[in-house]
Amino acid sequence: MKIITSSKWKKLSQFTEENTTNTDSPSIIIEPFEPLVQEAVDDIKTSDPNFFRGVNKIKIDMGFGQFGSVSSENPADININIERIKNEFQNRTNQSFDYNNIEHKNILKECIKETIFHEKGHTEDAWQAHSADPSAGLAGENLFPGGEQAAESFVRKIQ
Ligand SMILES: [Zn+2]
Repeated sequence: MKIITSSKWKKLSQFTEENTTNTDSPSIIIEPFEPLVQEAVDDIKTSDPNFFRGVNKIKIDMGFGQFGSVSSENPADININIERIKNEFQNRTNQSFDYNNIEHKNILKECIKETIFHEKGHTEDAWQAHSADPSAGLAGENLFPGGEQAAESFVRKIQ
């Protein structure tokens, strides 16, 4: 996870100095702040203090159709689509999500954790591909060679 700062590297790579500033820090920035995601992050850190190594930020994403995502542009950032996860909660339970209901919060928190685990698998995949040749400037399938399988096997490994 060494950061190389030549301008050539910066131009080519999707892991830039700017978007990996936080990858060795034990604190994780959540933007915009979302209390349930913070709780999920704290729970994960309690069981594995090193889990977030390699992750720069968690971004709360409102626009995507998936539970979460990791992009080529910022592969060290994990995007969590909280609205999509809440919708799924409503589909599964037939109830509207209620922040004051502890049971609701716990179910949603578990969904958020599962999403974080899955997306971290994609980030790990990208770091591995990147580390093999930091100057290659990988994107798409070259940056995420393991695809969904890499994410799924990462989830299985930590559970
Ligand atoms: Zn995935």
